[in-house]
Amino acid sequence: MIPKTPFQYELWIGGKEVPSQSGKRFDRQSPAHDAVVGEYARADVVDVDAAIEAAREAFDRGPWPNASGAERAKCLLKAADLIRQQKEELALVETLESGKPIAQARDEMDWAAGLWDYAATLSRHIYGDAYNSLGPAMLGLVIREPIGVVGIITPWNFPLLIVSQKLPFALAAGCTCVVKPSELTPGTTLRLGKILAEAGIPDGVVNIVSGFGDPAGAQLSSHPQVDMMSFTGSTSVGKTVINASRGNLKKVELELGGKNPQIIFADADLDAALDAAVFGICFNMGECCNSGSRLLVQRTVGEEFVHRVVELAREVTVGDPLDEKTKVGAIVSEQQFAKIMGYIDQGRRAGANLALGGQPLQILNGRFIEPTVFDSVTPGMAIAKEEIFGPVLSVLTFDTPEQAIEIANSTMYGLSAGVWTRDLDTALSVSRRIRAGTVWVNTFMDGYPELPFGGYKESGQGRELGRFAIDQFTELKTIQLHVGPRTSWWARRRETNA
Ligand code: NAD
Repeated sequence: MIPKTPFQYELWIGGKEVPSQSGKRFDRQSPAHDAVVGEYARADVVDVDAAIEAAREAFDRGPWPNASGAERAKCLLKAADLIRQQKEELALVETLESGKPIAQARDEMDWAAGLWDYAATLSRHIYGDAYNSLGPAMLGLVIREPIGVVGIITPWNFPLLIVSQKLPFALAAGCTCVVKPSELTPGTTLRLGKILAEAGIPDGVVNIVSGFGDPAGAQLSSHPQVDMMSFTGSTSVGKTVINASRGNLKKVELELGGKNPQIIFADADLDAALDAAVFGICFNMGECCNSGSRLLVQRTVGEEFVHRVVELAREVTVGDPLDEKTKVGAIVSEQQFAKIMGYIDQGRRAGANLALGGQPLQILNGRFIEPTVFDSVTPGMAIAKEEIFGPVLSVLTFDTPEQAIEIANSTMYGLSAGVWTRDLDTALSVSRRIRAGTVWVNTFMDGYPELPFGGYKESGQGRELGRFAIDQFTELKTIQLHVGPRTSWWARRRETNA
């Protein structure tokens, strides 16, 4: 249900809700219903500075970086429980702000809670190395320490999920954080503040500022007291964050865009591949870094397979995101809507065949677009190379595995890919040669907290999730321990001169 009055939010700094220093606020309209659903404090440079100061103080003088793994784990597990307890309300907020179907928003809350659970296990396994091979007088220790204050910036497509791919891992490592969610969907992230306080995380360890990319995100990325940035968003803004980070050479981890191919070989289980092809482009309205937005089909089965994709995509229910049966909800913003429609127009003008959709739909007071399929797409077309971030599928054909690999690797992105075949040799050889951080074989867009996630090429740098996630948020320190009497440098010099 749409709330009678919009939800109200303040900034979360130093363990409490505070208004922005200017008193400025902004609001969010539901993309499906055109009703105001949230009103938020609008962080300016001074508010971001205050949040960083709180995080710095909590890191330099607070208990969190020195807490034991067991103590940190207890808080993270409690946070997971609280997310599960508040699942309904969190899912509602996510749906109202983003336009995604409610059933999917609920799944996202479960998935997010699972990430807090998993990060808790890692907080008890922060270990290094010991060198007992340096001779009798020396022992070498290599230890991991929290990197410091981490700035986290997130996009609008999976707000609570993406912050949960970063924040619990940074906390598990002992870092303190300032989080800036997207201005389009700050609600669930701001609600995390109280959840984390209830879970026992000390004041100042997590600070959350709602605001715009410029100035709030820019101030966070360029601030000299921030030791690391963890950013998820578009490739172009990712590059801006790298530039902004240069002043103090902070570490930057980036999760960026994708133009992910699903490669369908003729020998595949075509029914399963069909389902994944439609899921791959309709899930989250195609507003998904992992969307299977390119379908590469082997020519011998191409025509029949594409016909089936079109027929299945035609059946997908587009509608009110609050309806349990909806599979495709509203497009997040006017800007995103215009971008998608612009690409549909480009596809037509470039000579691709519009096999399905391509039109806006008049539903409620919102912005909706029909699932859209282009075939006869060639690798040079913009709709084959660029991230559209909408329910628009580009179908290309190939004859040989070699050609499929070449097309798959022909964009600037390298986030993920799908390979569909019953032949083990094809599955492995193609998976190995695709330049992407994740390759799914005979499945698509599955994920496990245990498995690292991230991109090759301009899809990002660094990896999230898995046991390596802790590495991102730690520094390595070498400690050399001398054992027994030490030969003095001065004495050694005299011996040499003698
Ligand atoms: P975006 O890059 O426009 O915005 C992302 C965040 O950056 C927002 O919080 C925004 O306020 C902030 N921002 C904007 N300008 C900034 C600046 N100058 N300095 C610092 N921060 C700034 O992206 P979006 O439209 O919110 O999200 C869509 C993009 O995110 C797509 O490209 C998608 O592929 C990508 N994405 C990637 C992953 C992944 O894990 N690889 C996951 C989800 C989304």
